[in-house]
Amino acid sequence: MLCTLIALAAVCSAAPELPAQNTLYDPNSGYADIVLLNSPVNPDRTEKSTPTLDKMATIDFVAHSTTGLTHESMTREEIDERISPYGRFDGRPGMPYDEYREAMEYVWLNATDYARKPSPVAVDIAKAYRYNDLVAIMKDLSCYEGVSLYDIGVSAEGRAIYALEVDVPSSKKKNTVVLTGSIHSRETAGAVFLLKELAELLSAGTRESKEVLATTRFAVVPCCNPDGREAVCFDAKKYTMSDGQYWKATTDGTDLNRNFPGLVWSQVANGNKKIATVASAPRSANYPGDHAGCAPETKALMKFLYYYIGVEKSRILIDYHQQGALSYSGKPWSTARQQALCRELTDRMLSVLNAGNRHKYILVSETADYGLNGTGSTLTDYASSVAYGAKFSPGFGFCVYADGKDEYPLCAVPHADDSKFRIVEAVPGFRTMTFEIGYGRQCLGYSYETRKLLAEEYYSHHFDRVLYEVAKYCQGVR
Ligand SMILES: [Zn+2]
Repeated sequence: MLCTLIALAAVCSAAPELPAQNTLYDPNSGYADIVLLNSPVNPDRTEKSTPTLDKMATIDFVAHSTTGLTHESMTREEIDERISPYGRFDGRPGMPYDEYREAMEYVWLNATDYARKPSPVAVDIAKAYRYNDLVAIMKDLSCYEGVSLYDIGVSAEGRAIYALEVDVPSSKKKNTVVLTGSIHSRETAGAVFLLKELAELLSAGTRESKEVLATTRFAVVPCCNPDGREAVCFDAKKYTMSDGQYWKATTDGTDLNRNFPGLVWSQVANGNKKIATVASAPRSANYPGDHAGCAPETKALMKFLYYYIGVEKSRILIDYHQQGALSYSGKPWSTARQQALCRELTDRMLSVLNAGNRHKYILVSETADYGLNGTGSTLTDYASSVAYGAKFSPGFGFCVYADGKDEYPLCAVPHADDSKFRIVEAVPGFRTMTFEIGYGRQCLGYSYETRKLLAEEYYSHHFDRVLYEVAKYCQGVR
């Protein structure tokens, strides 16, 4: 079905003309206004610490995020036996407890640039950006008061993975919005779209942008998979398959968006078949990894997501992909109310993107048995697991529900509304969705033509409004 949609979308790809760049960046607006908004300047902004890093240092992330009911990995046979009344455990092993601790105990480094004065930051989607160029933009953004840049982990090839936190000092109560991009190598647009959205918001200097910044904290990992993005963008020949498809996995063949130790890891419920697309060995897409959470990028993202969702109780996560002007919403394994809330966010955001457009983003619903057919867990599966009250089980090696006495893998609770015990949500009101940017396969890859199409889509589909509208949406659901 997806292929049909992409093919259809490819036919209708005309997009309106790009506005002139210089209409967006007024060097006399922006920073000065933001400082006025923030007066007095946050006295805690020093070179070593930020309120976030100080707070993180006080939290025992492992204790906070695990069930406390098991402390050692179960054998495959033990897991099979526990799951046998409900289905089977099929696929790769869960996450070893020592690796889980490594992920959760990783100490973020402060990479904020305090030395330079902020200046307007221009992001041009039609331009080719190497990862170092993206990092330079993140550094530039971190010069703004209230913006911090954190080094949250290191990729397999040794690139730093960065998170930006936009938390402009304000006396108003804030909502936290979490944004992630470019977890799939060939889906290069998310990183640049997110950086452009942030750059425009920070330098707009309008009454509306100030209100957004005063009421919303943004936590953003623009590029979740720096090695893969760099490979597809600048070593395209090597990372193109014989059928012309670009690489989605990390350069060593793990699909990061199947690698998270969330509730759905490797379980096949009774009556379900294992889906055919789960690869059994490293390849360009769909291999969930040698075990859950094995990729260093996954580990970095796990702590990032756990902090902002599990600890800071963010109710909004939007993950930027690039697979054909679509959107996915919610988790079929969650409660009807949880699904309805995700749908509400998705409908709202799609109404923003689709306004005035003949070529519309389409909502694609997951099939009902999704998540219990042997797949690994996605980034949003993991985040939803945390928000919906699941904890990591050292015994199983993935997230489970727990009632204080026992652990229940998702197989045992296939319909959360009918659970035999009370599931306590960690984040009541949590909503997640994905954007799948781009009309058709001509929007994949990194040629100039592709980048130009994406740049047009940024404006034609109002991505410059996303941060504003998601902030307003949060205000409405407070
Ligand atoms: Zn994707």
